[in-house]
Amino acid sequence: MITTADGTIDAQTARPADHPVLGAAGLASPASLYRPLTVADTVEILADGAADLLAGGTDLVPALRTGRRRPRRIIALRRVLELRTRGASADGLIIGAGVTYQDLAGWSLSPGLAATARVVGSPQIRNLGTVGGALGTADPRGDLLTFLSAADAEVVLRSVHGARTVIVPSYLAEGRDPTELITAVRLPRPCGPQVYLKVGARQAASATVVSCALVVDRVRERVACAIGGVAGRPVRPVAAEDFARAGVDWATGTAPPDVVAGFGELVAEAVRAVDDPLPDDPRASVAYRRHAAGVLAARAAGHCLSGPSPVRSAGGR
Ligand SMILES: Cc1cc2nc3c(=O)[nH]c(=O)nc-3n(C[C@H](O)[C@H](O)[C@H](O)COP(=O)(O)OP(=O)(O)OC[C@H]3O[C@@H](n4cnc5c(N)ncnc54)[C@H](O)[C@@H]3O)c2cc1C
Repeated sequence: MITTADGTIDAQTARPADHPVLGAAGLASPASLYRPLTVADTVEILADGAADLLAGGTDLVPALRTGRRRPRRIIALRRVLELRTRGASADGLIIGAGVTYQDLAGWSLSPGLAATARVVGSPQIRNLGTVGGALGTADPRGDLLTFLSAADAEVVLRSVHGARTVIVPSYLAEGRDPTELITAVRLPRPCGPQVYLKVGARQAASATVVSCALVVDRVRERVACAIGGVAGRPVRPVAAEDFARAGVDWATGTAPPDVVAGFGELVAEAVRAVDDPLPDDPRASVAYRRHAAGVLAARAAGHCLSGPSPVRSAGGR
């Protein structure tokens, strides 16, 4: 039994030293480790906002080890099986926050997500890293965030006060209250080709330099795009999306080469116009990222709109 600000609940505790990941890592400052079994227990422990949530640990463990994060409590989520499910309903797909990249990489119901997951990190990172962790870190270069932004996904959050759902751009703009647990993301069922292209120093083994997610919905006749790695949040190039939508022959789902090329130019223009560009870094200048965004977008449109094509992931330089 654990006593929290909100009373006494059933949850399991352990010493961080006994945890398979934390024990090996060592913490910069002492913390209590909680290992709840349910979402209800987790949000009880989170209720005073003083705990850090530990999912795969690929981002959090280095921060705990170096002292960048010094929580009094750590809540390990691995035993919360409710968070590790994924499924489909009539409305769309729902993916638990504890689902890993590896789980997504082979998911045939969501080929775009699968393509994105396959280019994240190394096999070890894909085995550990989770959907909830990607949203928790909210790295502007995060591959999953970029794809979820293009796919019009929603984030489901839960606290002791109940559940709420927010669209990804609002979640990224407003952030998460420290008393809230991300339980899942929801997204519409794919209704057309999707692609995720990424430029990184080495494909699938280093952080993204710039990326492009393109989602074509042949039922609603929409083209949605998000560019990652160029600004504080994934950029949706709305004018380019509208241009592509108007240029597609929706009977065949194809667009002529001038529409594909024009789409890339409009994406590059949208990236040039962002008011919070990520600064130059040793791997890529701002100018390079802008250029690469347009090239990736035209390539993505070519994949999705130039004829019958499977969902693909590709990239690299
Ligand atoms: C070598 C290496 C390579 C990488 N390559 C890539 C790459 O190519 N592409 C890419 O996108 N990322 C990459 N990453 C980043 C990383 O793998 C992801 O950000 C990962 O998704 C984090 O998930 P996690 O489960 O490990 O999160 P954790 O490290 O456990 O947690 C991360 C943050 O999210 C919070 N959190 C976790 N779960 C929840 C929840 N359910 N609700 C609320 N908050 C939560 C935690 O408290 C913490 O603040 C790489 C990382 C490393 C170390």
